[in-house]
Amino acid sequence: MPGVPDIKKNLELLSIDITSKCNLCCAHCYNESGGSGEKDISQDEILGIIDAVKDYKPENICLCGGEPLLKDGVMEMLAAASRVSPGVGMVSNGLLVTPDVAGKLKENGLKTIQISLDGAKEYQHDSLRGLSGSFKAACSAVKELKRAGIRTVVVDMIPNRLNYLCLEEYFELCLGLGADMVRFMPFMPVGRGGKFGADLMLDDEEMLAFQRNLTEIRKRYKPYILAEWDDPVMSARYICRQIADTGIPKIISVFANGDVATDVYAPVYTGNIRESSFKEILDTGLSKAREAGRFEDILGGLHNLNDLEDIRHRFKT
Ligand code: SF4
Repeated sequence: MPGVPDIKKNLELLSIDITSKCNLCCAHCYNESGGSGEKDISQDEILGIIDAVKDYKPENICLCGGEPLLKDGVMEMLAAASRVSPGVGMVSNGLLVTPDVAGKLKENGLKTIQISLDGAKEYQHDSLRGLSGSFKAACSAVKELKRAGIRTVVVDMIPNRLNYLCLEEYFELCLGLGADMVRFMPFMPVGRGGKFGADLMLDDEEMLAFQRNLTEIRKRYKPYILAEWDDPVMSARYICRQIADTGIPKIISVFANGDVATDVYAPVYTGNIRESSFKEILDTGLSKAREAGRFEDILGGLHNLNDLEDIRHRFKT
């Protein structure tokens, strides 16, 4: 129909927080994962969401959390997602990745996994993540996942005062583990990061030093390992501009309580899967949010990381 945006042809990423439960309690966790998860969306509800997007053929579906490997039925969800999308991914802390689990992830179609590794030294990772032994577990997970034949294993680090000076050592570690890519994202003063992160966040001068170092080291290591810097503010602004202009979201995020939004870090909520069908949320909910000027509101109010906490709660349904 002329004039109606065709979401179906353009969905690049469906991200689903399949649980809010986690076996770590990281100081920087932006969505404050942990707890009983009793209000989380169920396995059937998640399979329903995956089924609802089958005609949209999203390029990527990411199963996130919390720690997704804690969710009962995660392998079934993975298999269902793999039937709908060619690029199924997961974000995990790696604690539960044994050789057996890595093999099952591969069998059920996982293409990409991101494992968090916050430094080149044990203390840098373990003190941020709140569990002794979590660094060793994350390193072992990367090796097991590559051994199992997962196509792309990404390792991600949040630069902070404990680790930002160890960049070269970090690249060497990731290369040795066999990772395909390293990804860096700033420490966000959001969720637990907002409550406990003041001492860990880099100030402007430290961030500048980190960025200069990253630019130089990244160039040198380019033939061996890819490196990426993710800026949640730039990305949220791009997403909002694009939806405000065209009405077509490239990313849809479903949170563990069933809320649906157009971004993870600066979400504009468009409904909840327990109250409306996924199709209604994408059609009606999105149009209402657009007519209410919510994407322009974010563009007007989101300029740096310190604006994120307010934005995250501003447009709750
Ligand atoms: S940052 Fe990841 S691993 Fe840490 S508590 Fe949050 S969900 Fe769990």
